[in-house]
Parts: sequence; C-alpha cells; structure tokens
Amino acid sequence: MVYLDNAATTQIKKEVLDKMLPYLTDKFGNASSTYTTPGAQARRAIDEARDIVAQALDAQSSEVFFTASGSEADNWAIKGVAYANCGKGRHIITSKAEHHAVLHTCQYLEKQGFEVTYLDVDEYGAVSADAVQNALRPDTILISIMFANNEIGTINPISQIGKIARENRVYFHTDAVQAAGAERIDVCEMNIDLLSLSAHKFHGPKGVGALYVRRGVKIDNLIHGGAQEMGRRAATENVAGIVGLASALGAASETMSERTEKIAAMRDYLIGRVISEIPDSRLNGDPTRRLANNAHFCFRYIEGEGLLLHLDLRGFIVSSGSACTSGSLDPSHVLLAIGLPHEIAHGSMRATLSEDNTMEEIDAFVDALKSIVSTLRAMSPLYEEDAAAK
Ligand SMILES: *Cc1c(COP(=O)(O)O)cnc(C)c1O
Repeated sequence: MVYLDNAATTQIKKEVLDKMLPYLTDKFGNASSTYTTPGAQARRAIDEARDIVAQALDAQSSEVFFTASGSEADNWAIKGVAYANCGKGRHIITSKAEHHAVLHTCQYLEKQGFEVTYLDVDEYGAVSADAVQNALRPDTILISIMFANNEIGTINPISQIGKIARENRVYFHTDAVQAAGAERIDVCEMNIDLLSLSAHKFHGPKGVGALYVRRGVKIDNLIHGGAQEMGRRAATENVAGIVGLASALGAASETMSERTEKIAAMRDYLIGRVISEIPDSRLNGDPTRRLANNAHFCFRYIEGEGLLLHLDLRGFIVSSGSACTSGSLDPSHVLLAIGLPHEIAHGSMRATLSEDNTMEEIDAFVDALKSIVSTLRAMSPLYEEDAAAK
C-alpha cells in the first residue's frame, strides 16, 4: 500500500509508541494521586510533555492545556472565549475555508445570539489581512483563522493577522492542526492568543490534542468537573496520549527543516508530473505558500469518488477533498470558497505525503493516476462530446 493521505491522519511512529507503552502498562497511575509513586510518575510525565509542547510553540508551559482532540481544542477556544467575553461583544470573525470543527462551532454560536463574519478567501484559499482588518467592529471579541488549510494546504498570513488582532485588542485563535510539526510556529512573535493542535496529524496517537492559551486570555472552561489541567479542563489525564503527543511533536520540531525539504521535493515532482502529463488538470491552493506535503488537484470530467476507488484498488490511498466531508456528495466548501464551479470541484483529489514516502512510490502513483484518469474519461460521455467539439 502507498499511503498518501497524511492530512487525514498519520501513522504513529515506533519511537512514539514505545514512549507511550509504559503508561498503558506498569506506570498506570492517576496523575492526581501525586502522593503515590505511580501517581507521581504520571504527573512527572505530563509535566515534561507540557514543557516539550511549550518549547515547540515558544510558549510557557503554564499556557499549554491537553485536550482529547483538535476538534475539542477548536471548540474550547471559540466557545470558551465567546462565553467569557460576551459582556464586551458578540461578534466573531472567521473564514469560509475553515475546518468544520471551527465552522460548525461558529454556526452553533450564531444560534446562541453571537454574530459571525465568514470572510471570503482568494482564489488560492488564503484569507487577506486587509479583509480581517475591514471586518473588525467595536464588538468583535475573537478572530479565528486557520494556520494552514487541511484540504488545499494554503498557508494564511498568520503574523499579519496576529498583528492586526493585537493592535485592536481582539483575541486571535488559529487552528494549527495541519501546521504543527510542519511549519515554524512562534506564538509570541506571531501574536497568537490561542492555538489548536492534534497529535495524530504529526505521527502521534489519535484522541489527544492541545490548546495553547496565552496567559491572561479570558476563557471559560468547556469540560467541567475535577481540577485537572490547572483547573481549566476536567477529566483524568490521558497520560499515554499526552506523552505520545509531546514525543511526536518534539521529534517533528527537531527534524522540521530537513524533513519538510525532502517532502516538498517529492511533492513538487508529483505536481510537475501531474500537470504536464495529465491534460485538463489543475493544481488547487497556493503554488508556493502551501504545506510541504500537500498536492491537491481537479481533473475535468472526472468524479472524485470514482477516482479514489480505482486508486484504492491499485493500492494507492488518497482522499477526495477532505476525509471529514467525504461520505456526503456535496462538493467541498473549501473548493466552492475558492470559486470552483460544482462540476469541477467534484473531480478533486488530495495527495498528502510524509517522509515515509519514496520517489519510486510517487512515480508509481502518477503512472496509476494517469491510466485511471484516461480510462474514466474514455467512459465519460461529456468528455467525448467536448473532445468532438474541439
Ligand atoms: C484534523 C483536523 C482537525 C480535527 O482534529 P481531530 O483531532 O481529528 O479532532 C481540526 N482542524 C484541522 C485543520 C484538521 O486538519
């Protein structure tokens, strides 16, 4: 199998799993029982993990809170800030290309009486800092703009947006689930107040994430109960998951530049071959300001789900648009937001690489893709018609 769906999830690294296993076996203590040896072991492991995550973001350890997913981190950031600051205002700014964990949370808040501006994105899927500036109102309490898009890989001008947010004293949250471990993140320099990440997107385990909350940010709790996570998030800690998240993020941060360089070279080779060898194909997302591992295309006269299935039969795992929306037949909201018509958006395919891929795999993949696209087109009446008309 050739796995090219790393934006949906990544394989856990052996070293990460090895670090986690003791906390699922011998070191099973509850981190809140610090007066016992197993409890203290668990507490120490969580403290160390918090330090590692803080270091990767250039944050303080006391500003890092572990959650059960990236989705929870997004929900907490947005609902938490909305509820804690509704005395000041009820207006939130986000974009049309956000992950559903942000979009659906904002839609939920609209039903609770908040007002949300969903900014347009440009043809590459980026939010402009000027658009953020122009959308600000006296009652704006939060800007939530993703670091990098999970479908088309476009990276947003985070530092510029952060600067605007800070100058206007509005909180700035960024969903950095795709960027963490792949892009340099400095929450101080970039003026980020809240940031979400998720372990399974950088070769860590599923079911654990983190929310960075700058000291002093007014935010309500999302999960109520015990005093875990410095009283901000109840629930007995997922010690093994937290250890896994930190170990994976630490490793990803250490190897970031050489790894992303290697991945980007494979990605550029893949894009070059597809665009030059497959007629009527287009690259979606920004040609340069994009995640190192993301290649996203539309193929005219092709139905994405069918393409996916044929590739799967040959052992190539990619996605059509995003994993979260597949299963529904609506074209991706991101592709509609960059202005693609429905019929073209339907023929989309995302290949997201990891350092575990090889050039040989990329070649085999493009060969298979070429042959499947031409077979499917040969069966398409629309393609025949257009070809005849040309
Ligand atoms: C995967 C993803 C999420 C959700 O993270 P989970 O840990 O799977 O809940 C949120 N935002 C983006 C951009 C993602 O890619």
